[in-house]
Amino acid sequence: MSAPRDDVIGAARLAVQCAARLLPTPADRRRYQAEFVAELYGMPAGAQLRHATGVLAQVHALRTSLGSTDRLPVVLGPPAPASRRFLCRYLRWHNWRTFRTDDGARYSACAVCGRFPTDTVSRNSFIG
Ligand SMILES: [Zn+2]
Repeated sequence: MSAPRDDVIGAARLAVQCAARLLPTPADRRRYQAEFVAELYGMPAGAQLRHATGVLAQVHALRTSLGSTDRLPVVLGPPAPASRRFLCRYLRWHNWRTFRTDDGARYSACAVCGRFPTDTVSRNSFIG
């Protein structure tokens, strides 16, 4: 008795679940486990096994990529002075700077606390 064509075979599911367990954070593990299993649906059994093997082979690169991802603006150097942090935290007077993403897109963020501007009026003012 074989599984229907749209079902995920157990070995492929187990392989991608093991791959997801190697990822750095619980949120990453949950996300990629769901994505890896979802990718298997609709594939024939042989393709599922090949895909699961590929996922296992590439999980180290994904783990490295996820581990190096910094979701806040990269601010290198010593921490901001206490007076600057006070202005950010209590007066909401941020030090807006323009940064670039890896693909060259520009965005603004506070160089001290990493907060993103919510409107254009609050830039370097006492509001917000
Ligand atoms: Zn700030």
